[in-house]
Amino acid sequence: MYRIGIGHDTHRLTAGRPLVLGGVLVPSDKGAEGHSDADALTHAVCDAILGALCAGDIGQHFPDNDPQWKNVESLQLLARVVWLAKESGYRVVNVDSTVMLEKPKLRQHIPAMREKLAGVLEVDANCVSVKAKTGEGLDAVGDGRAVTAQAVVLLERP
Ligand SMILES: [Zn+2]
Repeated sequence: MYRIGIGHDTHRLTAGRPLVLGGVLVPSDKGAEGHSDADALTHAVCDAILGALCAGDIGQHFPDNDPQWKNVESLQLLARVVWLAKESGYRVVNVDSTVMLEKPKLRQHIPAMREKLAGVLEVDANCVSVKAKTGEGLDAVGDGRAVTAQAVVLLERP
C-alpha cells in the first residue's frame, strides 16, 4: 500500500531573523518570518506527509496562535508528523524537494539538510533529495523577499 503527498510553503524574508532550512541554520543577512523557526523546507515536507495521509495540513496540527509552537524547531514538528504516519502504519520511502531562494547559494548546505531530514524521517540520506533554485530575479523569490519550498513524499504501509 503506497500513498503520495505534496507540500508547499512560503515565508517572507526579513532582516534580523535566522534562516533555517531543513533544520540547518544558513548564514544569511535575511531570515524567514514566522511563528516557529519558519523552516519552509521542513514545513513543506510536513505538509507532504500529512497530505499523503489525508490528515489535513500543518496549520491544523500546529496552529500559529498556539504558544506551544512559538519558536519551536520545525524538525520537532516533523518528528510528530512522522509519528502520526507511523500510528497509521506508514513509513517514509523517499522525499524529493526544491527550495527557491535568491541568495545565499544553498549548495554547500544541502548535504547537512538531507542528513537532518533523513534522521527525523528515519530513512537513509540517499532517500531524501533537496534541490535548490533561484527565482532568476523574478517575483518575490527573485526580489529576495521570500523563500519557498516544495516537497513530494512517498509513504508505504508494509
Ligand atoms: Zn512554514
